[in-house]
Amino acid sequence: MNGNEVMLLGLGLTPPWKLVEQELDVESKPHELHLHIEADRGAQYPCPECGMLSSAHDFKDQTWRHLNFFQHHCYVHVRMPRVRCVEHGVKQVKAPWARQGSAFTLLFEQAAMMLVREMPVLAASRIIGVTDKRLWRVVEHYVSEAVSRFDLSSLQAVGLDETAAKRGQNYVTVFIDMDRRVEPVLFVTPGHGKEAVTSFRQFMESHRGNPGRIREVVCDMSRAFLAGVGDEFPEAQITVDWFHIVQTFTRAVDDVRKREGRDTSMPKHLRWAVLKRAEAGRLTENQVLALGELAQRNLETSTAWRLKESLRWIREAPTPRAARWRITRFIRFGEDLLGESPVLEPMRKALKTLQAHAHQIARRWTSTYTNARLEGLNGLFQAARARARGYRNTETFISMIYLIASPAASMLKST
Ligand SMILES: [Zn+2]
Repeated sequence: MNGNEVMLLGLGLTPPWKLVEQELDVESKPHELHLHIEADRGAQYPCPECGMLSSAHDFKDQTWRHLNFFQHHCYVHVRMPRVRCVEHGVKQVKAPWARQGSAFTLLFEQAAMMLVREMPVLAASRIIGVTDKRLWRVVEHYVSEAVSRFDLSSLQAVGLDETAAKRGQNYVTVFIDMDRRVEPVLFVTPGHGKEAVTSFRQFMESHRGNPGRIREVVCDMSRAFLAGVGDEFPEAQITVDWFHIVQTFTRAVDDVRKREGRDTSMPKHLRWAVLKRAEAGRLTENQVLALGELAQRNLETSTAWRLKESLRWIREAPTPRAARWRITRFIRFGEDLLGESPVLEPMRKALKTLQAHAHQIARRWTSTYTNARLEGLNGLFQAARARARGYRNTETFISMIYLIASPAASMLKST
């Protein structure tokens, strides 16, 4: 086998294509290997419309970026023929080594996707020597192609949550299959609330799903989500996830801390102390001291924090009936504890939210789905943000969530 034949093998080319010339350009940095491909003179090519072999009408030079040859960038230059089909006229022949419209060979794209599954796109783009913008275009193509093949016919229970590509902006809503432990994400859409739920229903219908089959939807307490789920999945039971209750109260405590901090000097290390859960030794020594000082000085944040921590009492209710009873008692206890203080207004609001959704919250006691599933999404969102850094917007963030945590991950591995 001579050098030309080795190269041809590396390109995955078969006759009539043949390598006619190769040159290494040592002037450019990094060096570039240029491979020139032609077809045998007089060869016939299939018409892209009907497959009928026809002879070449004319030729046009085209270039693709190929797998790096050791450290050198590699380009494939081809005299691409257009055929004249008796039926369809003059047509551009399809290149078997690249997908339509791409400036990269299939092998190059496969290697790129292999890297992108393991590391941030920016890092992968540096290794293979293309801009991250161009690499993202490849990623988005393969991800959306995989997503188009999702089959939702067996879906019965959905969890949904929202997050932002960047702090406070570009919201996306993520829908997961509550029965899938691995790669649970089925749909990610820009925006949130009712519109997102409607998009999901449409996605489901176009992917062999049946909205009437959905027995349960697990979500947070946002009114827009609840209204959307009620409209689009009227048969489904809605369960409000416990994790979101804790989150609502935790945010309220943080708001109280900020309000009180405007006129009062607050203990050091307090911010994370009030955000964390106090059980199971999660707090550092400094955080424990901060909470001690908070209580000693009788600050309002201390009251708020105590109320949040008491939520556990509801959580530990043995039956749904006991849970409903405890929710009622908790609300009364909370109202008494908070009194009239204006600083504690966020906590009163959290209590109202709890009251409004008592029924859907109590349902989690009969639901077969644990709330660990939605809580676990937070880790996924963080990972997706990190992998999309440098070029993060709604689209790249969505692609990365699919790539990390949807069935697209396995589908792309096996192609
Ligand atoms: Zn034809």
